[in-house]
Parts: sequence; structure tokens; C-alpha cells
Amino acid sequence: MKITIFGSGYVGLVTGACLADMGHNIMCVDTNEDKVAMLKRGETPIFEPGLDRKLKYNADGGRLHFTTDAAEGIKHGAVIFIAVGTPPDEDGSADLSAVLAVANTVGEHITRHTIVINKSTVPVGSADLVRDKVQAALNARGNEAKDITFDVASNPEFLREGNAIKDFESPDRIIIGTQSHDTAEIIRDVYRPFIRKNDRFIEMDIRSAELTKYAANAMLATKISFMNEIANIAESVGADVENVRLGIGSDSRIGYEFIYPGVGYGGSCFPKDVKALKNIAGKAGINPHIIASVENVNDNQKTLLPRKIMTHFEGDIKGKTFALWGLAFKPNTDDMREAPARVVMEALWAQGAKVKAYDPQAMEECKRIYGERADLTYEKDALSCLNGADALIVVTEWKEFRAVDIEDLNDRMASPVIFDGRNIYDPKAMKRLGIPYYSVGRR
Ligand code: NAD
Repeated sequence: MKITIFGSGYVGLVTGACLADMGHNIMCVDTNEDKVAMLKRGETPIFEPGLDRKLKYNADGGRLHFTTDAAEGIKHGAVIFIAVGTPPDEDGSADLSAVLAVANTVGEHITRHTIVINKSTVPVGSADLVRDKVQAALNARGNEAKDITFDVASNPEFLREGNAIKDFESPDRIIIGTQSHDTAEIIRDVYRPFIRKNDRFIEMDIRSAELTKYAANAMLATKISFMNEIANIAESVGADVENVRLGIGSDSRIGYEFIYPGVGYGGSCFPKDVKALKNIAGKAGINPHIIASVENVNDNQKTLLPRKIMTHFEGDIKGKTFALWGLAFKPNTDDMREAPARVVMEALWAQGAKVKAYDPQAMEECKRIYGERADLTYEKDALSCLNGADALIVVTEWKEFRAVDIEDLNDRMASPVIFDGRNIYDPKAMKRLGIPYYSVGRR
């Protein structure tokens, strides 16, 4: 099938590469000229494991194309995915301007029956707004466009950054919200190669599909905030949250997934989607007690390490240097949107401290966000950060941080102290070595 995808970010590029890999002919449209130029040169603008190889293989095979020209994109495919960003507005609601700009362009250029599928995460009712926008642009074309028909569907995306290709290729479910079973069948054709073994296609009305995405992310965020709250209780009452985690995860109704205590969730999805769901509920006259608490607990958790650091150094960290391991909001991505590391760094800088940072993938992104500053330097590897540092802070649980030589670490820091925001080290080993060690929810 000839398919067009608007938005070449984490979702759009993974969708394009994976659909092309199955033999579809894909045109990716993005307004960012630098990004499209990179893609045309065969470069991958984001880090996502396996993506560069897939993009190259399918572009070389003539199944994957990139353009900034929306008209060219719309001419290419009668099935159009919208995968542009929906960042939070000032009031926490999702900003739909990019989605509606695409809808308008679609109405301006379509010449045959077209299916517009919204993959961006959008508030309930957005498909109606997309439909109105496309129709208004068609109407503005007058007689020339009076017989052109189109349909709008919702197909929320559930991929996880860092595991996006696997998630797309082996989805737990493919949710399709439509008003028309015929449209659903065409979308089923798009996904057919991915659901041969196991039909994970769930068809429903559009509003339920739109709400499903927010409900899924809010549920996952709830698990994280719940566990962080338990961690804080554990620490205060002399229990060990890692034992509690094992104890509750073994209950199949609870499970081990998403119950790791830490320094809070970040990324482009959970923070904005929890906010947006709170906003949706508020507009519908509902006071969303749980969702509001999930957000409050998370905001508080992101300041946990700075609070522990200030207590350890008795309120004075001016002039001290902190080695920071991990900038990305989670391992296997370069994404720093709403990353806990940002809260930690900014809190340290506000107190006059310096940061020596290392992340296997996110250092370029960090430079883009913060630019050159005297209180931030980057190191070529994790161990170099430690030389002359007053403390080590672990914010992202990249695998390469897990099995470091603690004695080497001890030697490199003048008087070592570790703040471990992901509980990756063993408190007993630290005690044996006499290293002051702070973690989350453990004595
Ligand atoms: P992103 O910011 O990485 O990419 C969005 C892209 O859209 C950018 O390249 C931008 O230049 C482009 N764009 C903006 N306006 C455009 C327009 N009018 N025409 C064409 N391109 C345009 O965003 P993302 O992380 O890929 O997320 C996209 C959507 O998918 C969001 O709604 C997000 O909530 C949702 N989502 C994201 C993830 C994730 O893990 N990143 C997972 C599931 C769902």
C-alpha cells in the first residue's frame, strides 16, 4: 500500500520504517527541513535501537521516502497517518495545532477518497476537530472538491522509546477507533503483516480509542508513583522497598512490571499525558483525584536526590563537583524531555555546584538544551566523570553503570559518596567499602 506519514519523530519514523520493512511504500513528511535533509542523506536524527539500519535498508530499497512537501506527501498515499507532536499547552491540555495544521493541509490537497488516521496522542473528541478541519479546507476549494470524500480514524500508538521497533512489530494490541467498519478493514490491511500470528486488532468507537491511550499511560504512571510513595514510606519506617517490590510483584494480579522505585517518570509521554487527562477530566466536570496525585507524587520524587544531597552536605554544595551518570529520561534513548536529570542538574546549579555529565546517547541532546555553560562539562566515559568529583549521582539506569568496579570508583573520588536514584547497587557492598550510599526506599 502507498501510505503517507506526517511527522518524522520517534513515532512517525518508527512507523514508517516498520511499515516499509513489510513492503508498504511510505512517504514521510516533516516540516523540519534539517531533519528531512538528514534523513535524505541516510542519517538518523534520533537514537532508537535498530532504527538506523531499518531506515537505510528501506530507503535503499525504494520503499521509504522523505519530503517537506505536504502536497507531494498527500499525492503519494490515500492512507495518511498523523504522527506529529502534541506538547502540553499552558493549561496542561494537549496542543493540537500541529495535528490540525496537517488536517487543513490534507483538505487542501486530497484528490480522491482518503483515510486520515490519527496516531498522535490527542484528547477525546479530536477526531471530530480533524474531520471539521479537513471538511472546511475541502469546502474552501469549492466545486472542484465537492465530490471528494474522506474518513477519520483513531489509531493510538503504544510503542516505548528504546524498544520502539520491537513494540511496533509485535504489538500487544492495535487499537482502531472508527465510525466505519470498511475504514477499519483498510487499516487492518496496513497492519496485517504484524498480526499474522496473533490477531491483536481491537476495533472500537473513536472516543474510546482516544481515551484508551490516556488511560494506558495514566495507569502506568500510577504504578510508578504508587511504588515511589511506598519507597518513601519504606525508608521512613526502616523497611527495604526492594524486598517489598519482590514481595508484591510475585502476586500475578500485580506483576513485576513498572514497580521499580526511582526518581520519577519523565519522557515525552507520561508527564504530558497525565496532565492532559487531568485537563480532559476537569473540562468534563470530574475531579480526577488519583491522576492529580500521580502527578504530584512524581514532581516531588524528581526532587528526591537534590534533597538527599543537600542533607548530606549540610546545605552547602557551592563549588562542589558532581559526577552525573545518565541524562536521558530512561536507558536506550537520547530523549531528555521532562527527564529527572534536568531537575537534578538545575537544582545543583541553583546552589552553585558544578556537574560533570556522561550519558551513552543523550549528551548531544543535553548540549542542544543547555548550550555551553561553565558549570556543565561532558566526559567521554562514565569513569572519567569521577576524577576529582565530590559525589556520584546515578539518574538513568543504563546497563553499563550496573557492574562498575566499585573499588575503582572509590579510588577516583577524593571522599566518595553515591546518590543512586535507580537502586542499581547493593547497599551491603557499599557498607563493606565504607562508602556513604543513598538510594531510594532502602536504609
Ligand atoms: P516528536 O516531537 O519526536 O516528532 C514530531 C514531529 O512532527 C517533528 O519531527 C516535527 O517537526 C513534526 N511536525 C510538526 N508539525 C508538523 C506538520 N504540520 N507537518 C509535518 N510534520 C510536523 O514526537 P513523537 O515523540 O514522535 O510523538 C508524536 C505523537 O505520538 C505525540 O502525540 C506523542 O504523544 C505520541 N506518542 C509518542 C510516543 C513516544 O514514545 N515518543 C509513544 C506513543 C505516542
